[in-house]
Amino acid sequence: MPGWVKQCLMWLVACAVAPWALAPSASADIGVVGSPVSVCIAPVRAGDTLAAMLRARDRFDCTSDQKSFGSGDYWARSEPLSAQGPVSLRMASLWQQQVTLWTVYADGVVTKRSFDGKALARTIQFGAIVEMPLATRAAPVSRLLWRIDGAANVRGVLVGARLASPQESATSNLAMAASYGGFAGLCLAMFVYNLALWSAQRHSFQIVYCAMLLSLGGYAFSSSGALAWVWPDLPNNYRLRINYLTLAASGACAIAFARTFFEPRVFSGWLNHLTNLVIAMVLGSAILLALATGWEKVLLDRLYAFSFLLLTLTSIPVLWQAWRRRSDYLWLFACAWALPILLAAIRTAGNFGLLSWSFLLDNSTLAAMAAEALLSSLAIAYRTRLLARERDEAREQEHAARWLADHDPLTGLLNRRAFLREAIGRSGDHQLVLVDMDHFKSVNQALGHDGGDEVLRLVSRVLARVGAQSDALVARLGGEEFALLAFADAPIAVELVLHAIRAERMPSDRHVTASLGIATGPIYDEAGWQQLYRTADQALFAAKAAGRDRARGTGAVALAA
Ligand code: GH3
Ligand code: MG
Ligand code: MG
Repeated sequence: MPGWVKQCLMWLVACAVAPWALAPSASADIGVVGSPVSVCIAPVRAGDTLAAMLRARDRFDCTSDQKSFGSGDYWARSEPLSAQGPVSLRMASLWQQQVTLWTVYADGVVTKRSFDGKALARTIQFGAIVEMPLATRAAPVSRLLWRIDGAANVRGVLVGARLASPQESATSNLAMAASYGGFAGLCLAMFVYNLALWSAQRHSFQIVYCAMLLSLGGYAFSSSGALAWVWPDLPNNYRLRINYLTLAASGACAIAFARTFFEPRVFSGWLNHLTNLVIAMVLGSAILLALATGWEKVLLDRLYAFSFLLLTLTSIPVLWQAWRRRSDYLWLFACAWALPILLAAIRTAGNFGLLSWSFLLDNSTLAAMAAEALLSSLAIAYRTRLLARERDEAREQEHAARWLADHDPLTGLLNRRAFLREAIGRSGDHQLVLVDMDHFKSVNQALGHDGGDEVLRLVSRVLARVGAQSDALVARLGGEEFALLAFADAPIAVELVLHAIRAERMPSDRHVTASLGIATGPIYDEAGWQQLYRTADQALFAAKAAGRDRARGTGAVALAA
């Protein structure tokens, strides 16, 4: 790739990455609104009562990592609060069968609301935030108590709890809708564009890219919570299952994209097996995780995270092989995927519990994929350019090969074979003019073989020029013999041919002449051609016999004398 192209691409990449690199922090601010509520949890024990749990402070653990408790049923309790006026409780959407929330007011009143899977789905806000409005009373809210049944506790029992005003909620929804809407628009536009390209060019990486955009769009639609708005009867855990599956499909498509994007040599051999294995692992673990309901969820979530770790790490051998096998697309691919791979690595670290849950992390896939989608479309454009160049070169070579097959290399005129192919089968009467150089042996003797060649070249230029006036086919039939074929109603000016050959300045000012045999007739088929050729050849013989430097045959006698 020339240096300036690299520099332009570098700038393009930088401009495309910059907003997306900043996007996660921006979306983190817009998604996480309200004031945080610190939460303590306690595993449910047989015989637990509401009254006891409202009182029993010592049962609750406020310091340990929630994940260390494993899957199961839990109580959760907030630290003393003082929330006045209309306020909503917002928290991360997690795998839970049932959530019951008791709101304790300062005057001692306790209200209760229960949410099963469907009810939870109806609370989902943009950015996949569960939002439960708390009833407004004169007394402020002083405490919250939850009972969470069937918590998978993969990322925690109750995570990201905050109290937000209606205004904050609305602002968050609007901003999230804008950013997801932007992503959806990007996906849709690129999907349509690449599908159109694919229908015209049929490169497999284009259709795989479309499949990746579809999976990503599906993931964004489900993980943003938009799916819950469109389909409020879908229990929230089913939405989470769709998240696993669409994210896995996107990952698998990303590998498939790399496989179709690079030259086949990059993925031949062991890398092909490795990527097959990773695709199978990513999809398999997603299906298992989506099917799981109980404690095995934690284990399967690890497997899922592990398969994504493998997927991320696979980028290293892919880039390595692309480098070793001298891929033309290495540089571009590396740029397009650097950010997604980095964010996938961070996300994977989060999945393994190396980083705690954060809204930023949860939504980073979107930003990374948006960056990837944009940069990949640049990569596709570049790849298409290279393919187009290869195709043009191949066409030129084919053209050159065909030209060589049809033309005489010395004079550039049609050769005998191409001339016959073009001539035989034409409809209507044609005039055939055979041109044979006079005493060419002595021309050769006088000028040498090279000089003779030069004479042949000059004569052929004359013939091409005169032939063009009658739109004639002009060929070198062999040796020092040429042919011109014109329509009978636009015949060759034979006297002009004779004159022009005589007048042409030859090497060593040698005077050179030719004899012409002319015949007119049909050439629909081989037999017609043979007949015409014979007649013209006899006329040529007659011209030679009559003293050379003249024409004989149909319409030529009067001219030639
Ligand atoms: P005539 O007037 O009877 O046609 O006499 P001629 O010498 O032209 O006839 P002949 O057919 O016996 O000789 C043709 C000569 O043309 C013989 C050959 O050496 C020469 N010749 C054929 N092809 C080439 C070529 O490609 N280059 C050169 N320099 N000479 C060629
Ligand atoms: Mg001859
Ligand atoms: Mg001759």
